[in-house]
Amino acid sequence: MDTRAKNSVVSFKTAAGFCPDCGSILPLLGGLGSVTCYACRRIWEAEVFGDMALSYNIEFNTKDTYKSTHGIEEDEDEADGPIVERKCPQCQNDTMSYATLQLRSADEGQTVFYTCTKCKFKETENS
Ligand SMILES: [Zn+2]
Ligand SMILES: [Zn+2]
Repeated sequence: MDTRAKNSVVSFKTAAGFCPDCGSILPLLGGLGSVTCYACRRIWEAEVFGDMALSYNIEFNTKDTYKSTHGIEEDEDEADGPIVERKCPQCQNDTMSYATLQLRSADEGQTVFYTCTKCKFKETENS
């Protein structure tokens, strides 16, 4: 369903990463040794990629694309966004700001990031 995600996989290449079950293009290996088909949600082990899996994995990890999207949350020290009443589990302050991040796969839903306005403690919650 998420055509943008599929397109990014397509442009990266190639023939090995098709779901044996539904024929959809599989997302690239993320280093965990398995992938989840976007279309039918089946989980496949790395073997589905055959011998090419290893080289894909290396190339993928050297790309900045994944890290840049991943790094945004890590580097975001400043609390910005709306403030909500939520108790910080660390300092008991009762306001936290929040921001949402849409994950790459549309049907993964949203992740909400809460940041304590006082001590900057971060909490995430999947919706
Ligand atoms: Zn599939
Ligand atoms: Zn706090």
